[in-house]
Amino acid sequence: MYQRIRTMIKGKASAQVIPPHVNRSAPPKTDNQAHILRSVESCYRLAEQQLNRSFPRPEVNFKLRGKSAGTAHLQLNKLRFNATLLEENAAEFVAQVVPHEICHLLAYQLYGRVKPHGKEWQSLMIKLYQLRPSTTHNLDISSVEGKTYGYRCDCGPVNLSVRRHNKILRQQTQYRCRRCSQTLTLAG
Ligand SMILES: [Zn+2]
Ligand SMILES: [Zn+2]
Repeated sequence: MYQRIRTMIKGKASAQVIPPHVNRSAPPKTDNQAHILRSVESCYRLAEQQLNRSFPRPEVNFKLRGKSAGTAHLQLNKLRFNATLLEENAAEFVAQVVPHEICHLLAYQLYGRVKPHGKEWQSLMIKLYQLRPSTTHNLDISSVEGKTYGYRCDCGPVNLSVRRHNKILRQQTQYRCRRCSQTLTLAG
């Protein structure tokens, strides 16, 4: 008897079981990140109450870059949020982004591989969180959009990317307006 129990504990199968309430997430670095972790937990509790079953908690981190607010990794049961966008759009994250991404994980747990924003995901958004299942968000993404430099020609102002601006500074190239064929110059 003792032997069998020991084998089970050491066995690979039992090591892979993740208890539903164990938090595998990294410690939050800001108040907003702490708020998101609490909001993930309360979304899960709401889902569990309404669906009358438990769900394993996802690993959460804030390492997502670029223009996306969040992503859900279905098989890893993991959520990644954009730390920069979170700091500028905290309310929108709690109201929309967190439940949106959680519904992806829940849909996978409940139905397996289904369309990302298909009827299963949509009905979870409505039923669990009373949200319009919208696939777009109203975040201010100006800070993660590529910075631009103001140039001009006779036609008016033109924005150039940092990459183009640096090429001009290094005197590797010049850019010409297609319409007036004037060389673009840095606007003063
Ligand atoms: Zn989505
Ligand atoms: Zn021009």
